[in-house]
Amino acid sequence: MTQDNSRRPAIRGVISDLDGVAYRSTVPIADSVEAFRFWHSQGIPYAFVTNNSSKSSKQFAEKLSRMGIPASAGQVFNTIAAVTALLREKWPSSTPVFAIGEKPMFDSIEAAGFRMTETDPEVVVIGFDHQFSYDKLRIAVRAALAGAAVVMTNPDVLTPVEDGYDPCVGALSAAVCAAVPTVKPIVVGKPHPFLIEQALAYIGTGRDETIMVGDQLATDIVAGHRAGVRTVLLASDAPFNQSHGVQPDDVISSLLDLIRVTTAAAD
Ligand SMILES: [Mg+2]
Repeated sequence: MTQDNSRRPAIRGVISDLDGVAYRSTVPIADSVEAFRFWHSQGIPYAFVTNNSSKSSKQFAEKLSRMGIPASAGQVFNTIAAVTALLREKWPSSTPVFAIGEKPMFDSIEAAGFRMTETDPEVVVIGFDHQFSYDKLRIAVRAALAGAAVVMTNPDVLTPVEDGYDPCVGALSAAVCAAVPTVKPIVVGKPHPFLIEQALAYIGTGRDETIMVGDQLATDIVAGHRAGVRTVLLASDAPFNQSHGVQPDDVISSLLDLIRVTTAAAD
């Protein structure tokens, strides 16, 4: 840890990012697996918040479990639920929606009653899509030109993978915004604090005794600040990992650095 923790409340709850903290794509980060296993054994509650919209909460929990991190679907808060909640809040069901993304997000949007279409959508949703194509970009751009609202799951421009970084949703939506500069996308994932608020309600710890751990300043750390929790940056080699004026409360090089400052609520 970079600062003296002796006068600060103990950490009794952990909220963590996934990509770049628990794992890099399909490869678990060994120290992180060990840290979560320790917290699990000590009864220290934790939850995960991810901007990744390519999997359901259940699928993320299964992935974590396979890697040795005990996790249930209820512990994982992702942008699929956040996008669906926003659509429900702002538009009547049956509104035509065009979505760039993957099946778990489509299923959630459809289950909420929205009509998925490539023709005259009133809302364009942009999430992570391994099959992103010129055709999808054209449909999104034409809808935006016709006045459709644009919702992005998250603004990350890069996502960490085994052998480096891949382009993320921020890069896909930048193509739409470049073509239609009047578009002002609504962002639901981090840096918006919505996912962290959900995770806080789940783990039930106070804001001053809960940490948000992430590897990206502009999303994880800003969202943590906005939610009023303590923020910890897991230092990484992420390019462009700068956000003007944003300082995490601590910077660590391994999640194991946090073990000695975490204490179960019963202590
Ligand atoms: Mg990350």
